[in-house]
Amino acid sequence: MDREDNIAKMGLTVEVDSKSGFCYGVIKAIKEAENFLKSNEKIYSLGAIVHNNTELSRLKELGMEVVDHTMIDNLKSSVLFIRAHGEPPATYELAAQKGLNIMDCTCPVVLKLQERIRTGYKEIKKVGGTILIFGKRGHAEVNGLVGQVNGDAIVVEDEKDLSIVNFKNPVMIFSQTTKDPGEYSELIFSIKRRIVEQGGSLERFTSHNTICRQVSSRHPHLKLFSTKHSVIIFVSGRESSNGKVLYETCLSVNPRSFKIESISDIELSWFSPGDSVGICGATSTPMWQLEEVAKKIREF
Ligand code: SF4
Repeated sequence: MDREDNIAKMGLTVEVDSKSGFCYGVIKAIKEAENFLKSNEKIYSLGAIVHNNTELSRLKELGMEVVDHTMIDNLKSSVLFIRAHGEPPATYELAAQKGLNIMDCTCPVVLKLQERIRTGYKEIKKVGGTILIFGKRGHAEVNGLVGQVNGDAIVVEDEKDLSIVNFKNPVMIFSQTTKDPGEYSELIFSIKRRIVEQGGSLERFTSHNTICRQVSSRHPHLKLFSTKHSVIIFVSGRESSNGKVLYETCLSVNPRSFKIESISDIELSWFSPGDSVGICGATSTPMWQLEEVAKKIREF
């Protein structure tokens, strides 16, 4: 059956979101790894370069092997690839002790945030205050951020975590780059309320909105994109944090939003004749995969 016949069958129209696809930091990291592997057989990536199994398989074919921190000991005279999320200083020290070469592809946005946290820490410690990091506990980027201050920061996943913070003293907060901007605003509101309730000073509270624009600008865009279509297919690896957050944004305005990891997850029952289908994804979803999904749906 050719494409014309299929369209006649379901009458679906399909649009791939032109603003989806890898973010700048991921594109840069992947390019550098690909360039290296043109003249080298192997590189060891500390953690998955992207939370996307399809893209990871492609890079594995080129010679990228994913390792974790416990495996660093056995990587003698190898090249250790630091992905866009960044790492704490302890990782660089360990790699140096083991004689490993590092290819550092920490995203410049994350590097800047790490530096701001180090500077902020020096300031706030002089006045007996606390650093808060709004992010997911255990997330690689958050581990890298907390490592900048030797672990002396409180990770806040949601409002519940604020109960252990002493708001009588100065507080400085930073956000993980991939968090939801709306949630961050709500958290700031809640912190201010607690400062007032505990008799602290709002003047001694500093909030740094360090959510990456590559992510934050996608929220309003995806809202518009999702209202424009009757069905949304959001493509993302299961482990992707920004994938979960961006998918929730689509779902909040379009209840017929479905999250998939690959084309095999697509179900025909999601579509009705004449539907307009929008395809979008996380910052770790390659554009080629979105096109692959579009091709499959056009065949219905
Ligand atoms: S989301 Fe932003 S901070 Fe994170 S890797 Fe991409 S560009 Fe860098």
